[in-house]
Amino acid sequence: MTHDAEVFRRTFQDSPVGMAILDADGRLDAVNPSLAVLLGSTAEALLGRALADLTHPDDRPQHRQVVSHLAHGTHDRVQLQQRCVHATGDVLWTRATLSRLPGSPWRAVLHVEDLTEVRRAHALVEQHSYYDRLTGLANRTLLLERLKVSLERAATSTACLFVDLDHFKVVNDSLGHEAGDRLLTEVAKRIQTSVRPGDTVARLGGDEFVIAATDLTEDAARSLLTALLAAVREPVIVAGHEVVPTVSAGLAMGAPGVTAETLLRDADIAMSRAKSSGRDRLAVFSADFRNEAMVRLSIETELRVALREGHLEVHYQPVVDMGTRRPVAYEALVRWRHPERGLLMPGEFIDVCEEANLVIPLGEFVLNEACAFLAARPDFGGKVLVNVSTRQIGPADLTGVVTRAIEAHGIDPRRLALEITESGMLVATQTAVADLQGLTEMGVELLLDDFGTGYSALSSVLRSPVSGLKLAREFTLRLGDRSTGDRISTAVASLVESLDMDGIIEGVETEAQYRQALAHGWKLAQGYLFGHPQPSHLIPGARIAPPTAGPSAEPAASLA
Ligand code: C2E
Ligand code: MG
Ligand code: MG
Repeated sequence: MTHDAEVFRRTFQDSPVGMAILDADGRLDAVNPSLAVLLGSTAEALLGRALADLTHPDDRPQHRQVVSHLAHGTHDRVQLQQRCVHATGDVLWTRATLSRLPGSPWRAVLHVEDLTEVRRAHALVEQHSYYDRLTGLANRTLLLERLKVSLERAATSTACLFVDLDHFKVVNDSLGHEAGDRLLTEVAKRIQTSVRPGDTVARLGGDEFVIAATDLTEDAARSLLTALLAAVREPVIVAGHEVVPTVSAGLAMGAPGVTAETLLRDADIAMSRAKSSGRDRLAVFSADFRNEAMVRLSIETELRVALREGHLEVHYQPVVDMGTRRPVAYEALVRWRHPERGLLMPGEFIDVCEEANLVIPLGEFVLNEACAFLAARPDFGGKVLVNVSTRQIGPADLTGVVTRAIEAHGIDPRRLALEITESGMLVATQTAVADLQGLTEMGVELLLDDFGTGYSALSSVLRSPVSGLKLAREFTLRLGDRSTGDRISTAVASLVESLDMDGIIEGVETEAQYRQALAHGWKLAQGYLFGHPQPSHLIPGARIAPPTAGPSAEPAASLA
């Protein structure tokens, strides 16, 4: 054997890569140990076998074509990714490289690398970038891709169905994340079985599911959704509780020129409509919805102007001591003096404000006004209560905003209290809680607003840095019913007492309500009976009574 031949033999035998020599018929003429191991066989057993036989049937046409290039001499070296069949029948992904050897008849050296692991890793990456981990459904990326393809192919029969689980937060917060995940998985399954095999079901995160369907008329999409709503509504047991999940659904049909993003947004708008008109129902997108969105947009634009030009003002409503009926605090309530529409209440613009993130500059404005109110009344020993939205907390640095307002007006932080709604407190993130703690450390008091309307467990109230609560007006309205209203009022009043918190009963309008609240143990109250919100100049100003001149200036122990 020549030296070269010996080198080749050694290389061939010892190579960690699978190698073989292929004859002109495409049969294995020599096989190295690595290739035998790769295919789960022995070199002897493989000798004389056609390479095509070891190739996965689906890849044979491709394989043959490539080998014929080599046979005809059009290529000297070809490479292809193909599946081979292991002795056990398992499929191996390989990269096969064939190099033509000089001489006639043609022969070739074959290198075979195992790509199975690489493919598996790729598949995993793909799975993660296109699929939702929890439910295995498509994610937003894949959904938009499918919608796009469908719109290009048949715009008017492309349907986008937006499905949102009702009250999911309640389950998640009260029964825990595991229960929440279990519910989501179950609902995902029910949705998946309600659609047609070719439809794409995606989860956009949280409790939002979207179905992209092609070749579906609006009527068919409606019936599909109606059936889906019914399928979801079956009771399910999570964490030992029976839960009856319901969803609100929005439907938007494609049209020429509509993008996947727009279609998805329209379906989302329709879903919100289904939610606000009572949940567990479906709404079909109409251009009117978009018009309403436009109205909101114009409110938003006008609000920006209002903020800039000073059309917002703050009114103050007294919180009184139940014993003396004298103000011990004032709640700051924002108003919009609209040039055409007159004085607007927050109910008409706070939501838009929240969505457009204008609540941050608005909140800063109110805080500054409230501090100015306090600075103008150095002898008023009580506090001003300012409503803050969750969006102002955490990343928006409420601590910083409050600190600047306090310093600008030179007031004592202990004269300021912030009201956060119970539901707002529930969704507060870690950063938000840290922000709130920073404020309480400065001496600013935190109150839970509209207590009783959220779903918070008492334990979460106790964990949060709040030191007072306001009972929502809807319970005051039910005072005297000798059932729920009275029971809740009594229970919360004694809770407040035993936790040594400040408790304010809201919305007291009548003497009867006042007497009942007093009997239930409430020490502080707010409501039209004691005073409406009024502009600052109508509230008794600085030094109206000296600090020691009795109850008018010296508020009752709490909230002082
Ligand atoms: P809230 O904090 O629960 O404020 C109490 C609301 O009840 C006020 O309505 C007040 O005028 C009204 N109210 C007080 N006493 C009575 C009563 O005896 N009967 C009745 N029927 N209503 C009474 P308003 O001023 O319209 O404020 C509504 C909501 O807007 C507030 O509810 C608060 O959540 C929000 N808000 C007000 N100002 C601001 C603000 O500066 N920032 C933020 N983020 N939200 C604000
Ligand atoms: Mg309030
Ligand atoms: Mg309230």
